[in-house]
Amino acid sequence: MSDWTTHPTAHLWMPYSQMKTAAAPLPVIGTEGCRIHLADGRVLIDGVASWWTACHGYNHPHIIAAIQSQAATMPHVMLGGLVHAGAVTLAARLAALSGLPRVFFVDSGSVAVEVALKMALQYWRNHGQPQRQRFIAFRHGYHGDTFGAMGVSDPEQNYHRAFAPLLSKQLILPLPEDAEGLRAFDHVLHELGPSIAGVILEPLIQGAGGMRFHAPEMLEAIHRLVKSHGLLFIADEIAIGFGRTGSFFACEQANIRADIMTLGKALTGGALSMAATLASDEVFQAFWRNDPEAALMHGPTYMGNALACAAANASLDLFATEPRLEQVAAIETHLKEALASCWELPGVVDVRVRGAVGVVQLQPEAIDRHTLRQRFIEHGCFIRPLEDVVYLTPALTIGAEELETLCRTVHDVLAG
Ligand SMILES: *Cc1c(COP(=O)(O)O)cnc(C)c1O
Repeated sequence: MSDWTTHPTAHLWMPYSQMKTAAAPLPVIGTEGCRIHLADGRVLIDGVASWWTACHGYNHPHIIAAIQSQAATMPHVMLGGLVHAGAVTLAARLAALSGLPRVFFVDSGSVAVEVALKMALQYWRNHGQPQRQRFIAFRHGYHGDTFGAMGVSDPEQNYHRAFAPLLSKQLILPLPEDAEGLRAFDHVLHELGPSIAGVILEPLIQGAGGMRFHAPEMLEAIHRLVKSHGLLFIADEIAIGFGRTGSFFACEQANIRADIMTLGKALTGGALSMAATLASDEVFQAFWRNDPEAALMHGPTYMGNALACAAANASLDLFATEPRLEQVAAIETHLKEALASCWELPGVVDVRVRGAVGVVQLQPEAIDRHTLRQRFIEHGCFIRPLEDVVYLTPALTIGAEELETLCRTVHDVLAG
């Protein structure tokens, strides 16, 4: 076989990419900490932690050891009719951390969202209210690429336009920004409440749909209105759970508890694909009947995969034994200081930081994503602009010097 790096995409179909015009992907031979080692010998500092996943940096020895030891005894066993220690332990730990006592494991974030929507619809069906068929979601929201998840994502985004005619018709509202916005939201809930099953939201930080922030007070107010109308509140913490916003879960900052919560991305510390849908006891009780029809009919083949459970349990060990939230606070301070200099650059309309997320927003016409990506790489950094934003979501363990390099690179490249 010829050198695999020569024509890497001869047979691969790459994500989110017009392959005909996109730059070729960079061949990677290894990862370590916050660094990506390329086949040609270059080393890049990773500004995005592989889509928010590698929260402890790459190859954390505690996670690697847990996977190796699990692989030696049992890489996988189906969860239909069988169960294993890793899944039991992980479910109990996630329940304790979230206050949501039921954990349904799946293999990806989009599927966690599908399960959350199915849970909500069937919750109402089991309660004799099958007319509650629709969901409310918010502009700039992103909840995944499968059909149900696409239906609650902002239809104006690039991601799903090709499928718009097939998407279920959900209500995509502006996210309330002030008292007036809350009144308008309340009005919609009044008018349409009886046909609505639930409201789904990325708490505090909307990720892939534009990296927009809202305040904990707004989150708290939205949750209060949703509950005052008796609807289910679904928190999608797939991107921002596990410390990213400054608290372990974003909902904590608003002192709220969702009825259903989705987790993914950093769940295994960036090692394996796994996600979960967590439910309150009240939601679970709607399914706990002497009636097979009332059961939740869903079951991914690899749900609760033992290797993934081992990695996730090891990742939670690290959150318990290492000062991750202090590290996030330090990253937040550093990002605020270092990115402030971007305000003076041409085309910059906003600079914002929350937790370990730094965003520089540009005028849409000022951004040429393709060129920017190349220039970041020339500066030794892996940073992937999205729509009109350049953003940093590094590992929560990133060192001050590497973070400094990322911030300086963002500034220098945007300065032209
Ligand atoms: C990434 C993401 C998803 C989808 O997760 P996949 O694992 O890519 O299917 C859903 N919701 C949010 C908020 C995400 O960031």
